[in-house]
Amino acid sequence: MRHILPNAMLGLLGGGQLGRLFTLAARAMGYRVTVLDPDPDSPAGSVADVHLCADYRDRAALDRLAETCAAATTEFENVPAESLRYLARRVPVRPSAECVAVAQDRIAEKRYLDGAGFPVAPYLAVEREADLSGDLAAYLPGILKRARLGYDGKGQRPVASAAEASAAFQALGREPCVLERLLNLKSEISVIVARTGPAAVATFPVAENHHAAGILDLSIVPARIDPRVAARARELALQLADALDYRGVLAVEFFLLGDDRLLVNEIAPRPHNSGHYTLDACLTSQFEQQVRTLCGLPPGDTRLLSPAVMVNLLGDLWRDDPPAWDRLLSEPNVVLHLYGKKEARIGRKMGHFTVVAEDRDQALAKALELKRMLRA
Ligand code: ADP
Ligand code: MG
Repeated sequence: MRHILPNAMLGLLGGGQLGRLFTLAARAMGYRVTVLDPDPDSPAGSVADVHLCADYRDRAALDRLAETCAAATTEFENVPAESLRYLARRVPVRPSAECVAVAQDRIAEKRYLDGAGFPVAPYLAVEREADLSGDLAAYLPGILKRARLGYDGKGQRPVASAAEASAAFQALGREPCVLERLLNLKSEISVIVARTGPAAVATFPVAENHHAAGILDLSIVPARIDPRVAARARELALQLADALDYRGVLAVEFFLLGDDRLLVNEIAPRPHNSGHYTLDACLTSQFEQQVRTLCGLPPGDTRLLSPAVMVNLLGDLWRDDPPAWDRLLSEPNVVLHLYGKKEARIGRKMGHFTVVAEDRDQALAKALELKRMLRA
């Protein structure tokens, strides 16, 4: 494919914060962006050149996007794979509908990973209640996770017995699920890969991720793990992108076990919240990589310019007044990103901030201090 160069129009399915950050990166590089998203107030739509405010399956909107854009990508995995396939008949679509389809269904994802030889947690595909009638000892205590449309810990139930698993299956709407054994995690880490083709691929430094109530709370980079484990995580992420012949930005979440074994938890066919540190601590951000890989350009340099800690800002922090931005913005080594969402709700990702410092532990101490300050 020839390179797609600045001033070309790029198409984006989805208009959330990841799409907003993609759009801002693309526009900074001189590209134009058309966003397809049904929400008139979508964070990306409001910073795009064109906002097609329509359903993701709307043929007229998809046709318009195909006619006006040089290539198309997505910012979330729940966009109908069928819409990507439809677009792909007319414009390059990265990542492919096939890769997105694997990532949007936990059963397909686990089967793919397992089948391709990537280590995963012990799991059982539960497509109907009868699938829970066998011996579940290998998966209990466990977590029942809905196969589709889960994120930020939504659609998941901890279960300790077969009876609890059946009850959880019913509570989750009798939709296909996976039952996964609850593991004792030493750490959670992630790697973002940017891949234009077999000879043009790069991984970012490993992020160490901490969650609160199932939602990413903060990411620490470099991760506080054995450098050999970090190298292995990057190698596994690279192998996975190769196995999928992936084009675009791929996020790989890993579980690190007590014996330093790595398991692939899940993948996302797009930039990832845990890669937001790249905006402020790397020469190339994960969003610029999405632009580059979409345009057939080789990935940019992924080296870490400074240790960094990224903290998510959830709607919980908005009470009668917005949080104390004046205090946050008084810090010279803190970068604030707000996503332009009109309404703050509990658990809703409203923005994030990144602390950069010469020393990782200093960055973490400052991040924790600022987190406390914002809550107070
Ligand atoms: P989501 O799509 O919501 O990110 P995940 O499968 O990544 O779903 O689960 C969210 C979080 O729940 C994980 O980051 C991890 O902290 C915890 N978790 C999920 N599965 C397991 C497991 N098998 N063992 C231990 N913790 C888990
Ligand atoms: Mg996850």
